[in-house]
Parts: sequence; C-alpha cells; structure tokens
Amino acid sequence: MPNRETALDLLLLPTWLVPVEPAGVVLKDHGLGIRDGRIVFIGPRAQALKYQAAEIRELPDMLLSPGLINAHGHAAMTLFRGLADDLPLMTWLENHIWPAEAKWVDEAFVRDGTDLAIAEQIKGGITCFCDMYFFPKVASERVHNSGIRAQIALPILDFPIPGAHNADEALRQGVELFGDLKHHPRIKITFGPHAPYTVGDESLEKIRVITEELDASIHMHVHETAFEVQQSLEQRGERPLARLARLGLLGPRFQAVHMTQISDDDLILLVETNTSVIHCPESNLKLASGFCPVERLWQAGVNVAVGTDGAASNNDLDLLGETRTAALLAKAVAGSATALDAHRALRMATLNGARAMGLESEVGSLEIGKAADMVAFDLSGLAQQPIYDPVSQLIYATGRDCVKHLWVAGKQLLKDRRLTRLDEQQLGETARTWGRRISGHAQ
Ligand SMILES: [Zn+2]
Repeated sequence: MPNRETALDLLLLPTWLVPVEPAGVVLKDHGLGIRDGRIVFIGPRAQALKYQAAEIRELPDMLLSPGLINAHGHAAMTLFRGLADDLPLMTWLENHIWPAEAKWVDEAFVRDGTDLAIAEQIKGGITCFCDMYFFPKVASERVHNSGIRAQIALPILDFPIPGAHNADEALRQGVELFGDLKHHPRIKITFGPHAPYTVGDESLEKIRVITEELDASIHMHVHETAFEVQQSLEQRGERPLARLARLGLLGPRFQAVHMTQISDDDLILLVETNTSVIHCPESNLKLASGFCPVERLWQAGVNVAVGTDGAASNNDLDLLGETRTAALLAKAVAGSATALDAHRALRMATLNGARAMGLESEVGSLEIGKAADMVAFDLSGLAQQPIYDPVSQLIYATGRDCVKHLWVAGKQLLKDRRLTRLDEQQLGETARTWGRRISGHAQ
C-alpha cells in the first residue's frame, strides 16, 4: 500500500497513456507517477489516486507518450533555414552551405543556433535530439542549460572545419569532451565522421580504435545518395558500407544516417553487425537523395530510428511531421499499405531512437525505472475527432501545435505550450538579427 515513503513528486492522469513498450498498447484511465525524475508508478487511475503526490495533474483529452527522439540533425543550422533551397545535395553543400559555414560559423553562431533549435524541438514534443555540428562543446553547454537531453556527435572531416584544423585535432577534442561529460545525466558524446567521402581510411581507423576504447558510438552519414555509392565504386572499387565493414566500424554502436541505397549485401551487413539506421525522409525528399526502404529494414530486424536532419535541408525540426512523412513514404516505397503502421511509427520516433543512441535502458518508453521524459499531446481539437485509435490520430491527423506539456527527467520544460526555461521572444530577436547579417542587409 502506498505510504509517505512512496509519495510522488508528480502524478499525471491523462486520458490516454501510450507506453510504447509493450508495443501497440493504449492505456485508458491510467496514471503515471514520478519521483526524483524517474517513473515509479504506472497503473489504473483508482490505484494511482491512493498515492500521496506533491502535485496531481489531470490531463483531459491528452495523450501522454514518451518524448520524441530526433535521431539526426545539425542544430545550429537553424540559422541557415531557407538560405538555399531546391538544389541537389552536392551543389547545395559545395556552392551554398560550406561557403556560408566558412563565413559565419563561430562559437556565437553555434550558441544562438543551438538555442533556437532546442526551443523549436521542445515545442515540437522532442525530449532528446542528436546534434552533429561544429563547436560541440558550445552545443553541450546549451543542452546542459536548457534541460533537454542530447547525443552530441563530434564532427570529424579530413579538411579544416570551424573549430578544428584537421581530423586529429577534432579527435583530440572529442576524447577530451567525452571524458569531461562521461557522467553527465543528459548528454552523451559520440564521434561523428561526416561521411565516407569526406573521411579517409586513416582517420576512420583511428575513430574505430578510440570508440572501442571508450565504448563510444559512431554517428555518420552513409549512402545518402546513389552518387555517393557510384563514386566510391569508381574510386575505391567498393560500396561505402562495405568499406566501413572492412574497417571494422559497423556494429551496435554505429548509427548509419540516411541509407537510401541498400543492396542485398548491404542489408546482410546491417543485420549481421546490428547497425542502426537513422531515416531522414524529408531531407531525402527535398534533396532528391532517394528513399530508405524502412519496411524492408524493419522486417529484416534492423533498428530504424527517425531524424529531421538540419533545418537547412528540411526546413523544420518537426519530428512528429517527419514521422508522419516516414509512415506514408514507407507504404509507397514498400508498395504496401500495411507498411510502418501508426504504432510502429511512434516506436520508431521514440524507443528506436533511444536504442540507436544506446539509451534504451534510460529513455524511449514509459516504463518503471526509466527517466521521466514525456510529452502530452492535446487531442481535444476538431481535427482529431472522433477518436477511435489515439495513436493513429496522433501520427496521421495531429500537428506539433498540439504539443501541450513536455518533461525531461521529470522537469517540465514546456507548460501549456510555453517554454519554462528559454525566452521565446529573445530567441526570435536573436535569430532575426543573424538572418539580417547573413543575408547582407546589416552588419
Ligand atoms: Zn545530416
């Protein structure tokens, strides 16, 4: 029987509780109790109300689910949102994004751009995101201050980048930051070789040795386009994924972002090595990069998570919208309307993201013992009526404007759609100032 020792910090009473694990379950008239930032109770409402709780919150017409996990992005690139649109990947990178980065990206850019990205993501129901961008130490500080959870992938390229002259310097910085943040409760440092065509074998071998020593993850763009695969075949005589396998990089700690090109041999490699795939459908669509065969991967047992990619190629950090796109696209690519149903789509946007990042014992589902990373979606609007299956309604008929409350490790970061820690007005003014500078209207 609950007593004072088992008192809760917070008891939530939503209309629908979707734990994601077990799969496909929707609990009605249930409560969820939190103590010290962790989930300590999930059970029927009548039982929940027997607990003493410092705060009891009714969440009528709301669906409580694990927070969304954005498994790939470049946070500070929000400041390049809409700078160059409607171009193929290499033209976009070489003629627009890389020159803009060389001119504008410094610590202040990363600070302001990351804050903007964090605010947008919290308002969109995201409790954990992966960032792969320059000045990762600055990004880590912004994550620390904001209260959100993140995996920070240190960018490694074989040419100079903002903040590091070469791959060795980036690696040294990475090892140092990994050590500094090893025990941080909300930040996980990983290594982010940019792509097979920007990082040579020598650097990749060093990354393999270091990540094995540290038991760290690797986050990398792989097989983003058919051109990337073709070029590798011509120049090296092997496909990029096969090369990564030969170098010993693939494995449960490897996160392969994009994977729009998958041969039968590639699929075998992914399955045998237990490598995760991060699917970024809207970026792939916008850059006409190709289609990741999500259903084929899922049926083969590959862990597939979902990410928005950076705001310069999407152009938003809306993971709920991204998941809807993924669910629709999966059906078209598979030629089957049963591909990636709504419940599996939500799992892809939560637990699979956690699994890709090695955080599945901590977040990704609403289970006793896990951190209380949660989002409450308001399904009371006309656009959600009537409700037969609230998860179907969430994936196919709900936008991120229905995100009402959000918690990370039990701390409320969004309350009635308002950010509790970040100043929305200030963020908007700062972003507009950057926009004016970058577009050349003012210095
Ligand atoms: Zn990317």
